[in-house]
Amino acid sequence: MTVWNLGSINADLVYRVPHLPGPGETLASTRYSRGLGGKGANMSVAIARAGAQVRHLGAVGPDGGWMIERLLEYGVDTRLIDRIGEASGHAVIAVDEAGENQIILYPGANRAISEIALADRLGHGESHDIFLFQNETNAQRQAATLASRRGMRIAYAAAPFEADAVKAVMPLLDLLILNAVEAEQLRAATGLGPAELPVRDVVVTRGAEGAHWYETDTGTRTEIPPVPAEAVDTTGAGDTFTGYLIAGLDRGLPMRQALDLAAKAGAIMVSRVGTADAIPDLKDIEDRFGPGA
Ligand code: ATP
Repeated sequence: MTVWNLGSINADLVYRVPHLPGPGETLASTRYSRGLGGKGANMSVAIARAGAQVRHLGAVGPDGGWMIERLLEYGVDTRLIDRIGEASGHAVIAVDEAGENQIILYPGANRAISEIALADRLGHGESHDIFLFQNETNAQRQAATLASRRGMRIAYAAAPFEADAVKAVMPLLDLLILNAVEAEQLRAATGLGPAELPVRDVVVTRGAEGAHWYETDTGTRTEIPPVPAEAVDTTGAGDTFTGYLIAGLDRGLPMRQALDLAAKAGAIMVSRVGTADAIPDLKDIEDRFGPGA
């Protein structure tokens, strides 16, 4: 079984500055680092580290070869990532002494993925595969429609949140994952709470409080208890949780078990600094929680 992940690939360009620049100001940075980011890429890394096979669908520009290599090193199947003329998606992040930041995001290649190429690729999807996507690429509805026609299970992480983007794909979804703030935003936009959405399984992540799983056909709500963690950096917790959940389902785990595993991975993730590099693998989970965790 395979997870097909249509998702963003971003370069995170981080500049340390004495203060955040004002209008018209030129400011020298004291430190620079470049890392792999993007919700789609993070989820693919989490899926690979959770032991499932993941094919990433997306695009980078002429400057993005290093990101494909990085994904490959993490165990992601990168053969379906296109190299196109548009610049790679990237975030220019200024961080001041107090840790306050300012971010310019350029979606670039992430919003210029060829729909024709996607259609061709998804034509090879099979009914036991999972199609996952988030809201940082173009062609979300088209790709989900094709995947659904192939009988694939359709999962959507509604981030970055945009009510219209969720509404556009909702009828296609088997599984919707969103955080508590996003669930409230969706309620405001649709008048529907998680239990009333027309999606069979809805998962609402609740940070340090764990998660709720709604089975809308039976009206059941299952509480996924939080796993205690000393949180130092919550970046990527949601992406890690989603990746582990999807990988667990792909590996045949029942939903409840996949959710418990995702909560453990999320707890380890928040106790580490970093993004793709910091995403735990199954060995980390076993080391922390014991064999068979
Ligand atoms: P982010 O945008 O920061 O990546 P998110 O808002 O999408 O995250 P959260 O609900 O904050 O997602 O976190 C996802 C999951 O990670 C939670 O459901 C929980 O299982 C785990 N998690 C997050 N924060 C903590 C914490 N402080 N302690 C333990 N587990 C946590």
